[in-house]
Amino acid sequence: MSYQRPKGTNDILPGESEKWQFVEETARLVFRDYQFNEIRTPIFEHFEVIARSVGDTTDIVSKEMYDFYDKGERHVTLRPEGTAPIARSYVENKLFGPEHTKPYKVFYTGPMFRYERPQKGRLRQFHQIGVEVFGSANPATDVETMAMAMDFYRQLGLSQLRLVINSLGDKETRQNYRQALIDYLAPHEAELSEDSKRRLHENPLRVLDSKDKRDQKFVADAPSILDYLTPDAKAHFETVTSMLDALEIPYEIDSNMVRGLDYYTHTIFEIMSEAPKMGAQATICAGGRYNHLVEELGGPETPGFGFALGIERLLITMEAEEVVIPALNELDAYVVGLGQETNLEALKVVQAIRNFGFSADRDFMDRKAKAQFKSADKQGARLVLTLGETELAEQVINIKSMASREEKQFPLADLYARFDEIYDEMTTKMFE
Ligand code: ATP
Ligand code: MG
Repeated sequence: MSYQRPKGTNDILPGESEKWQFVEETARLVFRDYQFNEIRTPIFEHFEVIARSVGDTTDIVSKEMYDFYDKGERHVTLRPEGTAPIARSYVENKLFGPEHTKPYKVFYTGPMFRYERPQKGRLRQFHQIGVEVFGSANPATDVETMAMAMDFYRQLGLSQLRLVINSLGDKETRQNYRQALIDYLAPHEAELSEDSKRRLHENPLRVLDSKDKRDQKFVADAPSILDYLTPDAKAHFETVTSMLDALEIPYEIDSNMVRGLDYYTHTIFEIMSEAPKMGAQATICAGGRYNHLVEELGGPETPGFGFALGIERLLITMEAEEVVIPALNELDAYVVGLGQETNLEALKVVQAIRNFGFSADRDFMDRKAKAQFKSADKQGARLVLTLGETELAEQVINIKSMASREEKQFPLADLYARFDEIYDEMTTKMFE
């Protein structure tokens, strides 16, 4: 009997996980510059938290949830996204309280779960990095947060990106536009896809997001939501675009762009990769403003802004742009032990080296000298320390710098007392 991982999931193995660490480390560094702090919420939530926030009629809630009843008959679900759980946490922990800095800025990273049809860049367990800003209605928050996403991608070495924005306006905008869209689409109802026929009555804006060819020709000529913005919504959007201009951040406006979650208001955006070979799954980051979500979950009226980006799709993009990822797991010292008798001393030597704050590895398989040197080389060791039975008897060890090929013998007592100095001595030689 052998087992396979569930469909739409991945094992992230060494070789690949270094890339994940690089991406996550870079996110932490960039987000710190913008004063975001990390938040960690549970992997599962009450079904209602997601249904209420994301919207009952969205694909995520109606088709893609990993929900179940636990042994206590509670309706719970694996989280499909990060914003609703964090808004729940914001309300539950009263993060709007006077003791907290405003706006309240957090980031997260972790797995999300959606029952989707797996394909390249589309998984059932995928991973997001995301941020949320609570408490600021200032358009500068929209712009700064979008700028941060672009900044993050630039730091990773990506350049072939496109920022696309739109506004969904406020509640009044949505009501007026909703009616205009129904009036426009209703005469074509029979020609729409099955999904869009249903959406037309439940949630007509969702038709604009349809990936079905039958719908797309109607979507192309649909009325523009930007023509329905209320004066307030229009002013907000104009400030956002003028601030993007002031920061010289290029963007496009796509008035047909909507998002797959119901909580958005005003500014929404997507970042697309332009790299060739990206295929259909080219959206690597999406987000926007959500001014009523916190209230919806029982909190005080609190504007919000956030985004989420898919790590798997980001890694595909980095590959498409041929980004070189710096090696993170470098080896300072490899200890070659020759003969069973050196087993204990080799153990002590690697531990001592690590206690000095260096990375160290050794052979455990009692292999021949040649095989051990080959491992040292393959692992990119800077120093190779050789301990044979003769050295052990004389209480010395041979240390070789792989860069300068220089070799020198040291008393073991010296190594235990001052390996840090020996390391400096042996590694700086290479620049002479
Ligand atoms: P799409 O239109 O591609 O389904 P979405 O609108 O559902 O995306 P969001 O919910 O806004 O996506 O999530 C933000 C980002 O998370 C996406 O831009 C994408 O990079 C990533 N993402 C979403 N769903 C998946 C998935 N099933 N597998 C891998 N990444 C995903
Ligand atoms: Mg989706």
